[in-house]
Amino acid sequence: MVERKDGKIALEEHFYLPSYEAYGADGEALDGAAKAPNYLPDFFASVQKGLTDIKLRLEEMDRGGIERMALSLTQPGIQGIPDRKMAIDTAKRMNDELALMVEAHPKQFMGFAAVPLQDVRAACDEFDRCISNLGFKGVMINGYSNIGDMNTAQYLDEAPVWDFWARVDALGVPVYLHPRPPLMNQRRAYEGYEVLCDSPWGFGAETSLHTLRLILSGLFDRFPRIQVILGHMGEGLPFLLPRVENRLRHMSEKVRGKQQKPVTAYLRENFYITTAGHFRTQALINTLLEVGSDRVLYSVDYPYETVKEQNDWFDNLPISETDRRKISRENALKLLRLADAPSAAVSDKRP
Ligand code: ZN
Repeated sequence: MVERKDGKIALEEHFYLPSYEAYGADGEALDGAAKAPNYLPDFFASVQKGLTDIKLRLEEMDRGGIERMALSLTQPGIQGIPDRKMAIDTAKRMNDELALMVEAHPKQFMGFAAVPLQDVRAACDEFDRCISNLGFKGVMINGYSNIGDMNTAQYLDEAPVWDFWARVDALGVPVYLHPRPPLMNQRRAYEGYEVLCDSPWGFGAETSLHTLRLILSGLFDRFPRIQVILGHMGEGLPFLLPRVENRLRHMSEKVRGKQQKPVTAYLRENFYITTAGHFRTQALINTLLEVGSDRVLYSVDYPYETVKEQNDWFDNLPISETDRRKISRENALKLLRLADAPSAAVSDKRP
């Protein structure tokens, strides 16, 4: 009998390399990640260790029955590097380093590419290289890209980025839209409550709005095959999107967006939703009722969350074993086009 915990595939799992700083972002760009002042020292130390310690990561995977992890550079990643050339160079460097990690542990790790959207043509080339040459399974984009300075942003629905989406459509791999905090000069609402700016609230607010921009831009009508992955149980959208739809129907065609279908249809057709960093049964049930179990994926958000805490919740969920297997493994196999290797006793097979 297969144990509940075995064979999981996790998709929002982060790494960080000391060489990232040497090649890229300044201290400001790293807010919320490696230089987060709001975290308690013990928590921050364990996150730092988890981001960089491969042996510890493999042990955690074994203990939690995680067969494979898709690894991605922690936020804001390349999106937080305002200098174009530095963004291009750092993306290449980080992807090369990630490829080495995957090469050393090909059965346990997969790569999600980092792309320098500060220069869309360079991002397309790097994306191509990562999928075609390095064998990565998708791309992770940390929200808007700073261009020139930290107060300037390019969102993913904006005209220059559509060439990149055409490449996504052609390559047929998913885009993970990961949060980052709001733009530096747009944080008035957080004044006096700066602790809310990143993962407690700002991440979800920023990413859900960014997702609405994508839907209302008509992107998925132009490229209906594109699949975007959202973490943190869909950043609130399974709960909130029906109200957006309800209100938009009273708006004139001129202002309600370029989308051709009701907005909830896109959530069911162009998005996958992961459990990363959000272990609440009520929220999962709501998500399942909105999008169905074929579009939900297991993830941890390691090392910002622990495998144990995620699994204490996930392994005991009151859902069918069929849905548990879909969410923890089978949906990811299909989406990332992975071979279905035997799932049990992963550690025994390691070289
Ligand atoms: Zn994350």
